[in-house]
Amino acid sequence: MSKIFHRTPIQIPLHASSGDGAYLIDQDGKYYLDGCGGAAVSCLGHSDQFVKQAMREQLDKLAYAHTGFFTSAPAETLAENLIARAPGELDKVYLVSGGSEAMETALKLARQYFIDKGEPKRHKVIARQQSYHGNTLGALATGGNKWRRAPYAPMLFETFHIAPCYEYRHRAPNESTEYYGKRAANELESEILRLGPESVMAFVAEPVVGATAGAVPAVEGYLKRIREICDQYGILLIFDEVMCGMGRTGSLFACDQDGVAPDIMSIAKGLGAGYQPIGAMLCSRNIADTITEGAGYFKNGHTYLGHPMAAAAANAVLHRLIHDGLVGRSKEMGDKLKAALEERFGEHPHIGDIRGRGLFIGLEIVEDRETKEPFDPARQLYAQLKQVALDKGLMIYPGNGTKDGMSGDHILLAPPFIITDDQ
Ligand code: PLP
Repeated sequence: MSKIFHRTPIQIPLHASSGDGAYLIDQDGKYYLDGCGGAAVSCLGHSDQFVKQAMREQLDKLAYAHTGFFTSAPAETLAENLIARAPGELDKVYLVSGGSEAMETALKLARQYFIDKGEPKRHKVIARQQSYHGNTLGALATGGNKWRRAPYAPMLFETFHIAPCYEYRHRAPNESTEYYGKRAANELESEILRLGPESVMAFVAEPVVGATAGAVPAVEGYLKRIREICDQYGILLIFDEVMCGMGRTGSLFACDQDGVAPDIMSIAKGLGAGYQPIGAMLCSRNIADTITEGAGYFKNGHTYLGHPMAAAAANAVLHRLIHDGLVGRSKEMGDKLKAALEERFGEHPHIGDIRGRGLFIGLEIVEDRETKEPFDPARQLYAQLKQVALDKGLMIYPGNGTKDGMSGDHILLAPPFIITDDQ
């Protein structure tokens, strides 16, 4: 009997014993095609020789040094490489161990920025109903997933949630996509005015919504209008690219395709590609300067900040993504996969929507294609689909939004960028 307290203790998961390109192999030697990168993590597959070699070399030099004493070459290089490609005014990087830590850091940095700027009343966070920003208490408070939040509700700070940009269900039949995008974004302005602009600190959003919705991109113009509103009221715009960043949508950062830059951005998952646990928070020069010239320190910190091994792995991942053309491959293979899914399932009576960008694709499953009525959540269709796929040797990432009243069952596909046509 396993002594690990598994995430679903009533169901012990399969044992993974090795990895081979786009496949994971269990202890009985059965192969599973990783159609979802775990949770959109394994963008390079499971046996990337370049990343493994970079990790070996770093291990021979230095595994760890506490950032209270030292910085390190791999951490400095990673920060430079990320900033060289980051959107807008993003200018500094804070290296953490994963997505939730990156989001906690983003929220705390925003708060300290306003204190040091002399606007201490600003502390309220507005986010969206259909969102996931992590499991730690601050990130959980920010996310809109009611089911995950419910047991911890008394421990969460108050946040405010507006509707997501979700064209499939929320655009009215007589509305143009453009008009819908503006209407959805303008909900932010109404909420800011309701709360009092001087009390609002930040608006947080995933540019392409991942786990809670199944790869839902914002419609064109939505994020531009969001940016305008944040600027107008002096509110920080935080993008959570933990899942949709690092080439997943066919550009290095998802927001590149919307032509909108945030003040703060979180990344993780594809940054370490599963080879090391690592995340990062990027912030604008203005924010960094305000804190540097204000308190002079950021009241935050973790033991594994700027971990040299993790940074070395991430540098190698970034090299593969950019210099070996894998971001472009995410776009190319994503277009192919989407076209193949549309051909196969475009008219399927229970597939309501096929959406996404790059190798980040969602299928929404409905009882009735015409009315968009979801299946009864009690049937737990998403769990059945996961099991059927596993039995056939395929990993998919299923979800269900019915409990939030947002959507029905969906499947997220996020295979490694090295996936081939046959696979
Ligand atoms: N933000 C988003 C958009 C995510 O999808 C996730 C994880 O799924 C997180 C934050 C939290 O990241 P982690 O699980 O690495 O803490």
